[in-house]
Amino acid sequence: NDVLRLEGVGKTYDRAGPAPVRVLSGLDLTVARGEIVALVAPSGAGKSTLLHIAGLLDTPDEGRVWLSDRDMTGLPDRARTEARRQDLGFVYQFHHLLPEFSAAENIVLPQLANGVSARDAQARAAELLERVGLSHRADHRPAQMSGGEQQRVAFCRALANAPSLLLADEPTGNLDPETSDRVFDVLVSLVRDTGLSALIATHNHALAERMDRIVRLSSVA
Ligand code: ADP
Ligand code: ADP
Repeated sequence: NDVLRLEGVGKTYDRAGPAPVRVLSGLDLTVARGEIVALVAPSGAGKSTLLHIAGLLDTPDEGRVWLSDRDMTGLPDRARTEARRQDLGFVYQFHHLLPEFSAAENIVLPQLANGVSARDAQARAAELLERVGLSHRADHRPAQMSGGEQQRVAFCRALANAPSLLLADEPTGNLDPETSDRVFDVLVSLVRDTGLSALIATHNHALAERMDRIVRLSSVA
């Protein structure tokens, strides 16, 4: 019962060129339902490549990718986009919130795009904001919030459409160490409370230790 399964995944950039870059080779990785997995990798080891493959933004040259027991290998772009929208939530180092919209609106919009009614979308946004302690910020725009608050709103947006897997790339990497610790705890609680699974890339070993399991990526080059 895995939410994500990578089997024998390999990736080489510029395969046909004079200087191919082999990044991933024979990589096996699973995230079980309800599990929070830390992805720890030295810079250049292929962490972003792996997250892009798991997030269906890129395809491997070798191996297979399953999302919730569905083989995504070789599916057409439209089916991959659909799966990305329904099954996956993304969080990055930077919040990528829409600056002209309020916190609540930023969480409502992806739900409307997914066919949820305005009323249900607003109720879910309010519930998510409450879980991360930001009910009082619902009507504020990103620029009116601190970095940690912006990031917490981004977590809510990632979970707005109730994905089965959250993919996070250094989700608190832009914050000062103290804020990072606190905001990281919020993310982990949010994932646990909602029964979600997550693959979270981080350079911070102390934070990685708080997750269920650590996957270490080493350089193959
Ligand atoms: P990480 O996120 O672990 O730092 P990346 O997955 O971004 O690693 O990149 C791994 C390696 O692949 C690096 O050496 C990088 O230069 C190379 N690479 C990444 N993307 C491309 C690309 N589009 N074309 C060629 N090489 C790339
Ligand atoms: P990093 O540079 O550490 O990998 P960023 O915060 O810059 O992380 O994340 C931006 C990345 O998101 C880009 O590398 C891009 O490839 C990727 N991306 C592109 N399109 C999408 C999309 N539709 N949804 C999510 N991520 C995307």
